[in-house]
Amino acid sequence: MIFPNWIDQIKLYVGSGHGGSGAIHFRKERFVPKGGPDGGDGGRGGHIILRGNRQLSTLLHLQSQKYLIAENGKPGGSGGCTGAMGKDIVLEVPLGTVAKDADTNQVLVEITQEGEQLLLFEGGKGGRGNVHFKSARHQTPRYAQPGQPGAQGWVTLELTLLADAGLVGFPNAGKSTLLSVLSSAKPKIANYPFTTLMPNLGVVHYRGEHAFVMADIPGIIGGAVTGRGLGIRFLRHIERNAILLFIIAANTPEISRAYTTLVQELRAYSPKLLDKPRLLVISKADLVDNEDKKKLVDLLPDHIESIFISSATGQGLTTLKDKIWKLLHPAY
Ligand code: GDP
Ligand code: MG
Repeated sequence: MIFPNWIDQIKLYVGSGHGGSGAIHFRKERFVPKGGPDGGDGGRGGHIILRGNRQLSTLLHLQSQKYLIAENGKPGGSGGCTGAMGKDIVLEVPLGTVAKDADTNQVLVEITQEGEQLLLFEGGKGGRGNVHFKSARHQTPRYAQPGQPGAQGWVTLELTLLADAGLVGFPNAGKSTLLSVLSSAKPKIANYPFTTLMPNLGVVHYRGEHAFVMADIPGIIGGAVTGRGLGIRFLRHIERNAILLFIIAANTPEISRAYTTLVQELRAYSPKLLDKPRLLVISKADLVDNEDKKKLVDLLPDHIESIFISSATGQGLTTLKDKIWKLLHPAY
């Protein structure tokens, strides 16, 4: 396994509980020779429920349990007593978790909100007890309904990160460093490509009371689009990001061309990614002096707002946050 601590896809066999059967029972009272029916309903089987939990950012905790079957409902009792419900299984999942039928790939449910609870598989309904089946003609109904079966099957859970701002750039552009200086996340940083083998999420605090989520996505590398390597799996994670930050280092020989390449890679993966608001962030501005910078500005691509920043010196970072915030909240 490549990422032992970060799992964005798992396959589980899950089943909701069978409903308890309705009871066949008759009242037994001392001086009543023929008591009426009083068999209660069966309890419903346990549900399988997904619950959004903002604290989680991986599906790792669910990996050890391959089979999850909720309890069956208990049968109905005498005296019209309803059987106990089977206990629900509640799976806590990170926001952005999509559950699919593993065979058909059909999306079953999708969790996007903190505390949101959605039914993955409904527990089988309990059967009705014979107390319900008394009629003028049948004073002593000797039947009750069986409980209904639950549902079960293989399900895949996939994590799609929900971030407000996604960092897009070639390896070594300075994405991880930027995230680490802006947010409380501390992604691993090293001076070689593919340092970032997993997306990191960071919360960026903004002017006291505000915050937004920034995602560091692994470098968009040549060939990712054709499905080679890890790229395709990770590119999925930026589909929902509200805005994209294109990060290109100031010492990149042809910034304009690098930008075009990034745009092409994104388009080939999913053209709708290009509909998102974007910002061109020229990183490592400390590596170029003011004169070089002036020359660079003339060569930057048109039609996109750009900003020079340095994670090393802090230059431009406040302005960057302002711009991100404005893009995220156009009417703010
Ligand atoms: P990533 O692959 O895009 O995540 O890039 P990293 O954040 O891992 O950075 C790659 C290299 O660039 C590391 O050696 C960083 O120390 C360096 N780096 C990042 N930001 C800056 C910066 O603002 N100025 C300078 N001079 N170097 C930087
Ligand atoms: Mg990185």
